[in-house]
Amino acid sequence: PEPPAEHAVPQAGRDGLVLLRRVGRVDPASLDDYRAEGGYAALRRAFALGPAGVVREVLDSGLVGRGGAAFPTGRKWEAAAGRPDHPHYLVCNADESEPGTFKDRVIMEGDPYALVEAMTIAGYATGCHRGYLYIRGEYPRAVRRMSHAIAAARSRGLLGDDVMGQGYAFDIELRRGAGAYICGEETAIFNSIEGYRGEPRSKPPFPVEKGLFGKPTVVNNVETLVNVPPILLAGAGAYAATGTAGSTGPKLFCVSGAVARPGVYEVPFGATLRDLLGLAGGTTGTLRAVLLGGAAGAFVRPGELDVPLTFEGTRAIGATLGSGVVLALDESVDLAGILLRIAGFFRDESCGQCVPCRVGTVRQEEALHRLSLRPAPGDAAGDLALLREVGQAMRDASICGLGQTAWNAVESAIDRLGVFSPREGSPA
Ligand code: NAD
Ligand code: SF4
Repeated sequence: PEPPAEHAVPQAGRDGLVLLRRVGRVDPASLDDYRAEGGYAALRRAFALGPAGVVREVLDSGLVGRGGAAFPTGRKWEAAAGRPDHPHYLVCNADESEPGTFKDRVIMEGDPYALVEAMTIAGYATGCHRGYLYIRGEYPRAVRRMSHAIAAARSRGLLGDDVMGQGYAFDIELRRGAGAYICGEETAIFNSIEGYRGEPRSKPPFPVEKGLFGKPTVVNNVETLVNVPPILLAGAGAYAATGTAGSTGPKLFCVSGAVARPGVYEVPFGATLRDLLGLAGGTTGTLRAVLLGGAAGAFVRPGELDVPLTFEGTRAIGATLGSGVVLALDESVDLAGILLRIAGFFRDESCGQCVPCRVGTVRQEEALHRLSLRPAPGDAAGDLALLREVGQAMRDASICGLGQTAWNAVESAIDRLGVFSPREGSPA
């Protein structure tokens, strides 16, 4: 049996939370519970503001995408809303597959109506009458709970031809992924929904111009969307007062590995990595490194724990927040083995459509394999040079984010942790 989502949320039900405030506190099946806890007040506010007013609030809030790339949500909405060609589509990317990422699952399982309401607001603001919720196939409980929430909202006039009696038609169709990591790439989702092989398309054109079925499409991550009701309820100014000027609002982090209480934690942007690890009960064992941002992310050294968890703060030390992965590694960990796992993952999940990624991920794994067998035969300097050359080619010439980021963690382990250096353990 799957463990309930609340088990992954040590803060569940605590006061002061924004995104997780209902998780563990409400019955996720009950629309009445959701409404009793403030649900659907934001949609009412959206109707009062009108579509342009909602987009203005989201722009002013400073909200940026929480899937990993941090693109300004308001700019995306504004661009799609302004497109004269119709229909417009909304796609919620719930194909959460980045290794170590499980925050969207917790929202969908613990507070499913929040996502239904947020999608309705997003659809209203951007001129969409149909939204697709694309959930990874390995999340059966999330699929069940979201299906139930969509049906219940429809039966109560909160989806359908006349949402809340406001003359606005909007409905949500749920689609399940089938286990391919690449189907979380936004244009591969379009292909998957349209019934084609899940392969990314070249960008530009961006989805806001030409997306699902060739029409203007807004794609947002689950966590991004559930920030919208709090923005409308608090007002953009109050929302933006949380966090820092460059990274506004609250953020979910998926803390795992060598910590006492792994799980999903909500903190305001600007909390430090040390604060977050403290919330998770502190590290177990002697810390060797923290992998921030997932397989496409970077390693942070024990001496850098005071880095503020903001886009700008992590960028300043050559790291990234990505989708919010915080994987603590202690001294017992075999770093070369972890890199091999990461490289194998990318090799396995590459869709094979473009040469730099299809060939590069294989060459990367081979070189890492040889390096991890040292001092057995193999030219370490040659393999390190090869890794750099292949990594740069993947970054520069791959079609999509998978190939472009497949060398990030390996590069960071070599440069920042000194893995494979003769003095392994001391950063180069
Ligand atoms: P991207 O930078 O290409 O795009 C980010 C978003 O902004 C997209 O929706 C894109 O369409 C939009 N965009 C960019 N420029 C635009 C423009 N000029 N006009 C309009 N829209 C524009 O990044 P991406 O390839 O979509 O995502 C990469 C990220 O995904 C990585 O940071 C990685 O961390 C993350 N990721 C997350 C998961 C997960 O499970 N959450 C899995 C894999 C990867
Ligand atoms: Fe496919 Fe990799 Fe090219 Fe992306 S970069 S399109 S996953 S082969």
